[in-house]
Amino acid sequence: MEKIVLPEIKHLHLIDVYLANGGFNAARKAFSQSPDDIIDQVKKSGLRGRGGAAFSAGLKWSFMPKTTTKPKYLCVNGDESEPGSFKDRQIFEFNPHQLIEGILITCYAIGAKTCYIYIRGEYHKWIRLMENALADAYRHGFAGEQMKEKFNTDFSCEIYVHKGAGAYICGEESSLMNSIEGKRGYPRVKPPFPAQYGLWGCPTTVNNVETIANVPPIISNGWNWFAKIGEPKHPGTILFGISGHVNKPGVYELPSGTLLTDLIYNYAGGVPGNKKILCVIPGGSSMPPLRGDQLEGIKMDAESLKAAGSAIGTGGVMVMDEDTDLVKVLARITKFYYHESCGQCTPCREGTGWMLKILNRILRGEGSVNDLDLLISVANNIEGNTICALGDAAAWPVKFMIERFRDYFEERVSKEIKLPVANKVHSMRKTEFPLAEIKN
Ligand code: SF4
Repeated sequence: MEKIVLPEIKHLHLIDVYLANGGFNAARKAFSQSPDDIIDQVKKSGLRGRGGAAFSAGLKWSFMPKTTTKPKYLCVNGDESEPGSFKDRQIFEFNPHQLIEGILITCYAIGAKTCYIYIRGEYHKWIRLMENALADAYRHGFAGEQMKEKFNTDFSCEIYVHKGAGAYICGEESSLMNSIEGKRGYPRVKPPFPAQYGLWGCPTTVNNVETIANVPPIISNGWNWFAKIGEPKHPGTILFGISGHVNKPGVYELPSGTLLTDLIYNYAGGVPGNKKILCVIPGGSSMPPLRGDQLEGIKMDAESLKAAGSAIGTGGVMVMDEDTDLVKVLARITKFYYHESCGQCTPCREGTGWMLKILNRILRGEGSVNDLDLLISVANNIEGNTICALGDAAAWPVKFMIERFRDYFEERVSKEIKLPVANKVHSMRKTEFPLAEIKN
């Protein structure tokens, strides 16, 4: 089976091994073509972003202005802080030079001379590995001024590793840029979008690590080759990070469109004790969950998951068996978003805390059926009413988990108390129970 970003070659993280396996030939090929040709090939390949939104990579590149006197930038988003997502670090560890080569090609295509690889602060090991790989690339002339001589080109590009400080919100592209600028990691109001007003007010493209690592093989093998792998509307392979109640959790590179049941039972070894699956979140904790009894036939690609009522997100698949306490799961997820909210928008800042209080109440056995509707109401008031997508990320698990597991949640609430919603919100605010009640 085709492996594009994590080929099974031993010691590929070493630059000599990477070079022995054709490393940096794609960059050489790219520099002999025009930037517009490169953008066109990536567009035609159908490569879609692997960081969550699954937006066309080539189209995003084409938004960068052609005539500007300002410097242009590329940011590679390796913040990877979504619970359930742990695939980009595999690239930092096992194939960092393909990422560097992808950066060179992307910078050439969009006209950027500087790239920042933004890595989450807790990834100490992977920061070190990426810095080592980058130092090797510089030493061998594959980055910086000396690449002009190496590739016999006028183009050169400086690459920096930038460490985050441990905030989930810095994975959002505009707060990532604020963070690089040395500011507080607040998301910016959009528009203007990064291609118009990005780093230091200059045109900027932000792409995920896996997205960029796909670029060299596309240039080497041709867009046609890539477009034929997996599902036509979301081609290529995807790094699926599967965790939770499976026998073999890990990262699996598989063609898009792989059946979710295949991923769980054939690749990840099924559920321990052959228990039934209660719930699966298919793309990181913010994506709408799927019922375990409705997984048959669901394919793992953006369009198929959308049709199934969820989203591919970061490809982080979380499996929960029949003994899982879904209220506790939901409270844990909500606590995360409450903690990570930057606080700029009232619906996100207050709503996440309100949802956590209600879920804690249900966990204590003091919930009511009305609480379920109240939770959905609060989630609906967050969704679509915030500056950045963290609001939706917090609202979706609550809204969709309760809607799809209504029978389960109704069993968990002890009694029905008929109160108008406004009163319930008021009484909820007065609750004396601490927000930090859920512990890991
Ligand atoms: Fe901050 Fe939440 Fe608003 Fe995003 S949605 S800007 S995290 S308050």
